Parts: sequence; C-alpha cells; structure tokens
Amino acid sequence: MSETQAYLNDHQLCKIKDATRPRHTARYRLHWSFFNSKLARDHTVSFGLPAFRASTGITVCPNASTCALVCYARQGHYVQPNVIIPREHNLACVVSWPVHQLIDALTSDLDNLHRSWHRVRIHDSGDFLTPAYFHVWLAVARHCKDKEFYGYTKMISLLREHRHLLPSNLHLIQSVGGKEDAILDTRYAHAVIFPTSAARKAAGYVDATHSDRPAWSHKRKIGLVYHGTTYLTESTQRVLTERYQTVIGA
Ligand code: SF4
Repeated sequence: MSETQAYLNDHQLCKIKDATRPRHTARYRLHWSFFNSKLARDHTVSFGLPAFRASTGITVCPNASTCALVCYARQGHYVQPNVIIPREHNLACVVSWPVHQLIDALTSDLDNLHRSWHRVRIHDSGDFLTPAYFHVWLAVARHCKDKEFYGYTKMISLLREHRHLLPSNLHLIQSVGGKEDAILDTRYAHAVIFPTSAARKAAGYVDATHSDRPAWSHKRKIGLVYHGTTYLTESTQRVLTERYQTVIGA
C-alpha cells in the first residue's frame, strides 16, 4: 500500500468517527469516495477516475466534448492533490492490472464495505475508457448483487450495444455533451446540464443538481444546473444551450 493510500484511508477512517456515518474496519485496494456531499447523504459510495485526461496523458473520457468546458471535476476542490491523487491511483490500476485482478479488487473492496453503503456510483469523475473496462463493471455488479450501481456516461454506442447485458442492479444514464450526442436515445434515461434552473424547468427535467436521487430512482429526464466554481461565460452558456436543444429537441 502506498503512503498516499494509507494516509487517505486513515483520513477517511478518522472522519467516519462521526456517529452518523457507518464504521469501516476494512482497508481497500482502490480508492473510494465516502464524503461527496451530494452522494453521502444517500449512502452512496463512489469510484472516481481523473476527469477528461490523466496527468500521464491517458484519455479517460474518450467521448468528452462540450461537457469538458463545464466539467465540475476539472475545477474547485476536484483539482486539489488529495482528490486528484486517489483518482490517478485508481486509473493506474484500471490500465495496468489484468481484468481479473481489477474485478477481484473492486468486488472485495465492495464486499468489505459496511452494509449501509448499499449504493455505488460508478465514476463521480471519468468514464468507461475502454470496452474491457466497461465489462469489468458489468462483472462487478453481477457479483455484488446486494448493491445498486449507477453512473452517467458519454460512451453512448458502447452502452447501446450492451444495454441488453446490463444486470438489473446496474443503471447507466446517457449524458449529453459528448461526441456521440447524435445517437443518444432520449427514450432511455439521459442527463442534461442546463445553464440555469429556469432552462431546466422549462424543458421539464427533474432536478439532480444537489441529489442523485433522480438518477438512481430511474427517472428518464434528468437535469443538472451548472454550479461550478468557474464563471459560466455567455459563449459557454450558448454552447451548452445549443447542444441540449439539439439533443432533446427543445
Ligand atoms: S465525461 Fe464527465 S468527467 Fe469526463 S470531461 Fe465530460 S463531464 Fe468531465
């Protein structure tokens, strides 16, 4: 175990002394995020990768397009070392470990979680960078039947091709703002980033800005209102608006 990993897990264990949170006795081989304020209240643990591109140059979000302009995981606290380093560690494992080793690490970590962590968000940052990695999560969800898995993805063709293989405890949501927006199927769950709350309401999308409940409760039209720390310029607002209007036909 690296020093960083040991530190972060100790740090997590300390913070978990809060009586409102479940206790952890296990050590994990990968990094999990227990304190994402949006997710923790729903007892959702998340697994993250670097957003867009790793420090090593590896492309983590192959289909990122306009989303990268407003990606919350490329600003604010997400660019601090204590957030980046664990995600880089996870990515290093994803790209260097044999598939069976990665599946084993993910499943054994999840098996070690306190049972109150019953929901897993795949990627609070990053995406399914390869088909093989996508299949890793199918295998993990099949193994961890007591957990619910969900995630957003811009890998639309990959999802479309494998939708029939998704186990019932894995729910994936198409995310607007990627290179494959043109083939996104709005009859299935999809998520849109709106520049304003008024735009979201006008389009009739359920608000998932502060809670992922609409995502894990399988709503079809999921809306997130931009709330990054970086100022949203008029031109970026225009790009976002044109993109979602094209996709959802608003
Ligand atoms: S795919 Fe997601 S994590 Fe990657 S750049 Fe786009 S919004 Fe960010």
